[in-house]
Amino acid sequence: MFEIKNVSKQYNGEFALNNISFSIAKGMNFIVGASGSGKTTLLKIISGMEQDFDGEAYYCGKSVKQLTPSEKSYYYNNIFGFIWQDFNLLEDLSVLDNVLLPQYLKNNQSRKNAESILKDLKISDLAQQKVKYLSGGQKQRVAIARELMKNPRVIIADEPTSALDEKTAKVTMDILKAISKKRTVIVVTHNTHFIDHTSNVISLDKGELVTSPQEVVTTTESLKYDQRHSLSVKNAFALTKSTIRSKWGRFGVSALTLMVAGVLCLTTVSGAIGDSSQGEFDKLIDTYGEGLKDISVVGSFMSAGGTDGKQEEKPNANVTQNIGGLYAKYVDDKRVDFIAFSQAFNDIKVTMNGKEFSIPSTGSAPVINKLVAGKMPTDKANEVVVPDGFVQTLGISNEQAIGKEIHFSSKIYNWDTGEPVLKDASITATIVGVADTTVYYEYEGKVSEYSVTDSFFFSKVALDDLRRQAEMKNENINFTIRAKTPADMISIKDELNEAGIVPLGRFELVEDIVRLNAQTIEQSGSANAIIGILSVVIVIAIFLITGFMRTREFAIYKVSGFRNLHLGLLNLTERMTETVTAILVMLIASPLINVATKGLFSINLFHSNLLFTGVPLIALVAVAAYFTTTIAILNTHTIKALKTGDR
Ligand code: ADP
Ligand code: MG
Repeated sequence: MFEIKNVSKQYNGEFALNNISFSIAKGMNFIVGASGSGKTTLLKIISGMEQDFDGEAYYCGKSVKQLTPSEKSYYYNNIFGFIWQDFNLLEDLSVLDNVLLPQYLKNNQSRKNAESILKDLKISDLAQQKVKYLSGGQKQRVAIARELMKNPRVIIADEPTSALDEKTAKVTMDILKAISKKRTVIVVTHNTHFIDHTSNVISLDKGELVTSPQEVVTTTESLKYDQRHSLSVKNAFALTKSTIRSKWGRFGVSALTLMVAGVLCLTTVSGAIGDSSQGEFDKLIDTYGEGLKDISVVGSFMSAGGTDGKQEEKPNANVTQNIGGLYAKYVDDKRVDFIAFSQAFNDIKVTMNGKEFSIPSTGSAPVINKLVAGKMPTDKANEVVVPDGFVQTLGISNEQAIGKEIHFSSKIYNWDTGEPVLKDASITATIVGVADTTVYYEYEGKVSEYSVTDSFFFSKVALDDLRRQAEMKNENINFTIRAKTPADMISIKDELNEAGIVPLGRFELVEDIVRLNAQTIEQSGSANAIIGILSVVIVIAIFLITGFMRTREFAIYKVSGFRNLHLGLLNLTERMTETVTAILVMLIASPLINVATKGLFSINLFHSNLLFTGVPLIALVAVAAYFTTTIAILNTHTIKALKTGDR
């Protein structure tokens, strides 16, 4: 059956086997020799585990060098059975589960067969026991039972009795001898007293054959076999089930890792960390009103210290600047909420539905805190935003005021001559909005408020008309830009400064928070990224560790006939089971997780759809876990992972 022709194997230039030729037939074959004489090396070559050697080795006329991975796995599941010195059983599985292992690759699983084999080996009563609680002799019988489940043609045993006491060694050897009546059995042993005259003996010494060179009998027998052997999805899940049952702690840690990593990724994806600084602005705006985001653009003003406080309305300014064209530049800017003109009017009289109303003068520049109804005027028609105080005197609601037409007449100061001259101006306009005209100011640390009840805001066309009537030559009307956000406010202010314009506004209140906020967002952005990366790194680390801790387990699968393809499917079913568990745990524990993430990052994670974003995120980190485990599987080197013989 086996023909070994001129086989040599060197390790680091030393011959482990030196030009060996012999053949092995059916029955009992012993390989004997001192430690280090090359016995294990020989077994590895015979079984195809070692395919890198000089010379030729055939099984039933087929060169073991030419066995493909798929052929090898078929051989290990159906033709070769392996018995090891240290058993190579899955210690946490039951005896029966161990014995059934090679069966998962066969389509017709036979539990009966397993039971009868256990009975033959007198270990049926141990079937449900965990292997780790058995004695050495019992373990070796379980290992033999597992290999017999393959119904193999050949049993290859490397020092199967070395770890056993004299009595159980004899029992084991007797079992192997009984097996050799029907199959080829190759046993490496030190215990020469087990060898009887019916056995074939191959004796090695320092890699050389001691027994007189045997003639190599070339067999004409060729191997006919059905190469199809596969792991069905059903069997993969069945195997996963027994793996999880035996190692539920490991399963729990894996599932929990996926869940925690998924939730951490969720905090990253939601970007919720760092949003809290928004609250600072809200507080400021609560105190100072929406007008906090106003930027006043004026043609002239008194610089600090230049005012004597008496000439309120006289723009007797020591600073003048050209603001022409700025209105056009900012009216459609994305950062701008609206632009309002700061035209003061005196002696305002409003006629509506034939009724005339006098509006008392406040002497303040017009103010808009916020629109309470309607919209700001557009440039296309004579439109006006009126103060809510005026609407109240009409006795109608703010909404009812919208669309109404008013006749507006007032006096405007014309300063073109350097002296104030009051000029009449009037216009008919449509009310498009109602404004809350409260102004907030701070005095001696206290914030006070009052309403500028004569704040009327006209569209540009309407205002141009009024100013024409007042014979004003200066085209540049002062205006206020309402920025959309405090950050927009600072950005526009900086831009104006660069253009040489000094705008007015409460920048000092806003600027620090804006700069601080930009910093926090930047920092929390990197914190988010770090948390995301870290969670994936944790998954990779945990699964790499567990994966490499399992290489012996994977190797046992491999010598039972599983190949990488099958282990890949097992990897998939295991990770899928963990993923589903992780998702369920997340959903069930979500209230608890929410409390934790609120405490840690002040985020309401499970507020909305975020919870369901967690599901694909767990699946995504599970993909990382899958590939990490794949690395461990592909790196499992059967020979290295399984301690062989007396090495
Ligand atoms: P035996 O099983 O008879 O004790 P082995 O076949 O294990 O002997 O080893 C034969 C010789 O080859 C020994 O000298 C051993 O040190 C060497 N050897 C075996 N495997 C390796 C290896 N993987 N790397 C280096 N040397 C090895
Ligand atoms: Mg050995």
